[in-house]
Formats: sequence, C-alpha cells, structure tokens
Amino acid sequence: MRPVYLYDTLTRRKERLEPINPPLVGIYTCGPTVYDYAHVGNLRAYVFADSLRRVLEVTGYQVRHVMNITDVGHLESDADEGEDKMVAGSRRERRTPWEIADLYTGAFLEHTAALNIKRPTVLCRATEHVPAMIAMVKTLVELGFAYEITDGVYFDVARAPGYGRLSGLDLDAQEAGARVELNPEKRHPADFALWRKAEPEHIMQWDSPWGRGYPGWHIECSAMAMEYLGRHIDIHTGGADHIPVHHENEIAQSDAVAGHPVVKRWLHNEFLMVDGGRMAKSLGNTYTLDDLAGRGYHPLAYRYFCLNAHYRTRLNFTWEALEAAARALDRLWDALYTLAGEVEEPAPAPAELAAAFLEAVTDDLALPRGLALAWQVIRERPVGAGQALGLLLEWDKVLGLSLDEAAAGRLGPAAGRVPDEVLALLDERRAARTDRDWVRADAIRDRLAEMGYAVEDGPEGPRVRRVRDSRA
Ligand code: AMP
Ligand code: ZN
Repeated sequence: MRPVYLYDTLTRRKERLEPINPPLVGIYTCGPTVYDYAHVGNLRAYVFADSLRRVLEVTGYQVRHVMNITDVGHLESDADEGEDKMVAGSRRERRTPWEIADLYTGAFLEHTAALNIKRPTVLCRATEHVPAMIAMVKTLVELGFAYEITDGVYFDVARAPGYGRLSGLDLDAQEAGARVELNPEKRHPADFALWRKAEPEHIMQWDSPWGRGYPGWHIECSAMAMEYLGRHIDIHTGGADHIPVHHENEIAQSDAVAGHPVVKRWLHNEFLMVDGGRMAKSLGNTYTLDDLAGRGYHPLAYRYFCLNAHYRTRLNFTWEALEAAARALDRLWDALYTLAGEVEEPAPAPAELAAAFLEAVTDDLALPRGLALAWQVIRERPVGAGQALGLLLEWDKVLGLSLDEAAAGRLGPAAGRVPDEVLALLDERRAARTDRDWVRADAIRDRLAEMGYAVEDGPEGPRVRRVRDSRA
C-alpha cells in the first residue's frame, strides 16, 4: 500500500502511518458540544477529519471512525470553570438539556451531510456512556491517579510524567505563574475534574460512588474512544484549541488506565479565523452553514473553501474569499458537465497522473495540491476527455465535491440550463397530450430520453431532468 505521511502534534513532524491492525485504521474525532448550532469554524474540524478518512480509504485502508456527541459536562471554559454549556443552553432556550441536545445534534448531522462529510462508523452520545466513565474514574482512583475533594474527583497531574508534552507546557512554570486558584483543595492548578458532584437542583446528574453528579468533559472522550477502539488507537483528531487542555487531559487519563500510550498519532486542524481572531462563540464572530445558505452559498462552496487551504494553516473567513470559492466551484462543476458531454463514459486514468494526486494527498493531506492537479487536468487537458473525466471522478472520492452530480448536470450552472431544443420538444409533447395524441407524446418522450432527458410529470406540469448528456 502507498505510504501515508501525517503530521503528528506529539512528535512535531510528519510520521509514516503504520496502523496497529492493517488494513484497519481506528480514528477518534472529538465531536461537537451540542448546546447550539456548530459554526463554520467547528465544521472545518470535521471537513478535515473527513478528508483524512477519505484519503485513507482511497489508499486502501478500512477506516473505523468514531465520533462523540458531547451532551453533558463541557463547561464554559475548557479548564473547569463556568457553567455546563448544555445547562446554559437549556436556560437560554427554556428547554431541557436533552431537548437542546436532540435539536442541535440533528442540525449538526444535517450540516455535515450537506458538506458531504461521511457519517462516522460510530456516533456516540456522552450521556449514554456514563457508566463507562464512572468505571474509568474508579480505576483512576484505585490506581492512585485521582483523588476526591469536596466538589468532585480530580486527576492528579503530578502522577502523569508526560503531562504537558503534547502542548509543550511546563507544569512547574505553570504552577509558579498560576492565576488565583479558585479551588484551594486541588493539589495542582492543572489538576482537572473527572467527576463533578452536583447540587440537588442541577438538571443533569447520575449516581456514582462519589454521590450524584456528572462526568468531566475530558473523561467522556477517553472512555468512549477506548470503548469503541480499544486500548490502542491509531489516530485521534481535533481542533488546535484542544491541544493544551482537552487532549493533554485525555492522554493523562487514558494512558494511566492502560499503562501505555493509547493513542499513536495526534492530528489537529488549525483555526478558521475572522479579522485576525479565532472564530468562536465566546467572541461573537461566528457564522453557521445556514447563514452562508442565507446569502446564497451552496454548502459545498464552504467545503471547497476549506480544501483550498492546508488543514494546518490558519484560514481567514471573509465573504470575498467564500465568493471566490463559490465561483471556482461553479467553474469546476461546469467543466465536469462539459467533459461528460464529450464522451460516452469515463475511461481508466493514466497511472502517472493518478499517482501524482495520491502522492499529494498522502503527503499530510495536501488537498490544495490535489485541487490544483484537478484544475491542471481541466485547463491543460494532458489526456483525452474520457480519461480526464475518469481522473476527476476518482479524485472526487477524496475531494467530496459531488463532481458526479455536476457531470450529470444536476449541480452547478448546467443544472439551470436546459437546451432550447429540449424545451421545444417538451412543448410539443404538452401539445400532443392536450390533443390526446398519446402515441406522439410517447414518441417525444423517447426522443428526449435518447437525448439524455427524463420527463417527469409533476404537480406543476411536465419537467425534464437530465439523466445523461445529450452529446454522448
Ligand atoms: P466544540 O463543539 O466546541 O467542542 O468544538 C468542535 C470542534 O471544532 C473541535 O474539534 C474544536 O477544536 C473545533 N474548533 C473550534 N473552533 C474552531 C475554529 N475557529 N476553527 C477550526 N476548528 C475549530
Ligand atoms: Zn474530545
């Protein structure tokens, strides 16, 4: 199999992927906190994870992709402060946290589907895995990695020798320069909650050996990742904001329980930015996919916008840049339609060109290079139309831009264009039906089918839908 190189945040260099059980590759992706709509910055993280999965799949690996839905325990600050985001969301909208979770999980799945992001193999909700989290916290206490204080059970970072390695944090320096610690019972400012004891009026709570309460956000991911992928996990992904706290804490917990490093490679996408700052709910500078649609942008224009930048570079969101991406995508879709019109069917791709694309995308997911190759094939036509079409449709297994739909004329500028000749025939058929000349009406239907158009008799009268290009 072709080697795949991926940048590992932990070793700070590109590493060759060596799966634990080839051809299987297990990937865990931190999922959304479903207290509100995901913004397009969040969605960049999932376009990235989806690109990783697609690249591995075209390379020949079998991917088991696990993603969680955080529906409890993520506080307003990643570092254990503030209110549970789900509870805040529930107060804001006067609904239960469970209703809020259902609403925004549904919206998230719709948005990701619209972006052609493949559904993870396993999608798991934190609230459905609380017993596994409690079991893990219990083990951590028994092994001496965790201690109980008045408001919960905390992980003792001093017991985890590698703590801080992922982000390059120096624990001692952190202790010296610590802010005023809100919780004087903690042994170290970086100690974090595994289990939080709940006041009686707190809405989301479960029984535990430490009384009623709810799990910490970090333990959720450790418990679910290990439940579905075991004690050896090939790849873990997330946004760069997760490096210093969430993923540092996941490593501490999981490795303490397993007695060895659980996750082999850590991959992180850089931020989507707005005016020089990260797009974030707390900064009030967010847009959702619906906001983009409201301005007339197809969701895949946003996917194209993401693919055009490497996942490890910061990407600035502006309407001008999105407009440029939308135009480029329209041109790409139109080019596919034109190509499809020139040939009967796609032809097998020439090996060197196919290899050039694979080489780019297996080099730490260099999708901008892959996209540039697609444009090169379209502009320079180094191969005939059939092979060009074959290549582009093959590459779309990685790009995920619905190029097959575009080739069939169902997407892009072509979708709105029906040739005059076809419209004239449709009128003739309408007239024949008014005259009850069924033989003639059927003959016209057959003629349209030969030209690649299916007639659909809908409530607004007959319409044509392109099923194949007429010039074939
Ligand atoms: P959350 O729902 O807050 O847990 O975040 C969902 C995902 O979005 C996580 O992987 C975050 O790291 C990621 N993320 C958050 N903000 C951004 C951003 N501005 N750009 C890219 N990824 C982000
Ligand atoms: Zn996580």
